[in-house]
Amino acid sequence: MSLKTAVTRVVDQIGNLILSPPYGGFGYYYNHGPRTRRAVAFTFDDGPGKPCTEQLLDTLGELGVKATFFCVGLSVQWHPDVVQRAFTEGHVIGNHSMMHSRKAGLLLRGGEHIDAADDAIAQVIGCRPHLYRPPWGWLTPWEGQRLRQRGYAVIGWDIYPDDWKVPEVPAEHLVAQIKPLVKPGSIILMHDSVSNQIRWEKTETARAVRLLTPWLRSEGYEIVTVPELLGLPAYRSSSRVPNTEGFDVKW
Ligand SMILES: [Zn+2]
Repeated sequence: MSLKTAVTRVVDQIGNLILSPPYGGFGYYYNHGPRTRRAVAFTFDDGPGKPCTEQLLDTLGELGVKATFFCVGLSVQWHPDVVQRAFTEGHVIGNHSMMHSRKAGLLLRGGEHIDAADDAIAQVIGCRPHLYRPPWGWLTPWEGQRLRQRGYAVIGWDIYPDDWKVPEVPAEHLVAQIKPLVKPGSIILMHDSVSNQIRWEKTETARAVRLLTPWLRSEGYEIVTVPELLGLPAYRSSSRVPNTEGFDVKW
């Protein structure tokens, strides 16, 4: 391993520990819903991609499950038809930044990575997302402030299986990771694609969803979108006026 690779790994581990859920977020994160209602949310990051996101949408459609997709703006521009399909089929579209750079949120000044993806999504579905998930979950206090000023809610997770790994981890292993952690209000982070890949083959996440869904239902859980889980709007008002009073936006 080169020195540069080793340093990057250490920095990434420190960043994950300090800035990502479950410990990071500086008070901006929603990492789960109420622990009093037997409901959980499936969330999928890093898409859309083809054919992976389309196949996942097929699976969700067959199961009658609505999910929340945190989309990368560049991929939205590549595959607007997939985003439109997800939206039309009742899934919620959230913002996962324009290029999936974990460095953009570290800079003291900026916000273009948020706004460009916001515009890309709005151009496809006609409304601006209310939910944002930072790439890698890295959230600095100033990035949290930028998101709050724009009227965003920042969404973390409390369950994060290894479905981001390449090559893929078998669905049975993913399910075994997830099951013991499920609680009322859980937000499960999975991945419909790999960021900044125009085409991607991915089967195990959809298989895991196919295995998990009947189990969750047999345990009395509803599977809902993040806005439903948290009681939040899915989309902001059409103008991007800075909101300086926190989340209490007039919708
Ligand atoms: Zn991501």
